[in-house]
Amino acid sequence: MDIKQIYMNADALLKGHFKLSSGNHSNYYLQSAKVLENPKTANLLAKQLAKQIKQSGIKIDTICSPALGGLIAGFALAQALDCRYIFAERADGIMTIRRGFEIKDNEQVLICEDIITTGGSAVEAADVVESLGGEVVAFAALANRGFCHRQESDIKTQLNCKLPQNKPLFALADFTFEMYPPNECPLCKTGSKAIKPGSRS
Ligand code: ZN
Repeated sequence: MDIKQIYMNADALLKGHFKLSSGNHSNYYLQSAKVLENPKTANLLAKQLAKQIKQSGIKIDTICSPALGGLIAGFALAQALDCRYIFAERADGIMTIRRGFEIKDNEQVLICEDIITTGGSAVEAADVVESLGGEVVAFAALANRGFCHRQESDIKTQLNCKLPQNKPLFALADFTFEMYPPNECPLCKTGSKAIKPGSRS
């Protein structure tokens, strides 16, 4: 399955001249929610991700996604793995689990995002799950930006990755882009202007 082509076809992976949320410029931009606007595509990607997780033999009782970005990917993955699904959300900036969701002692939880950049929100969700007695056994995302090592990839974990190194990350592909500080951007030097296509995802 050509994951990047699926993202391209959905206009979720854009080619051009972009300003990233970090302030750097890049010739690619990942608008990862766009790939999920077609439920069939969402289910197709989730099934592929579920296959990897099943092959690992890790038992998952529940998937928990940090809102908002992880909601659709997590729901689709829970459907593909036939397990329970809950989500964590920020209240006054603090990641919490509300809405009557409960976690049993030692319940085996996988944290699912649409995309892992440095994994900050995923780690916050994992911390809440563990504070309630659950055991976070793995992380998953449809796309990985290549800062964290994922299973089945040669890309090594970089310093800015926040995910714990003793737990696996499952993802479908690494989306590593060339990034440039604005004053060193070769695209700017050609006279083109960087655009910011949407909110940070
Ligand atoms: Zn530029």
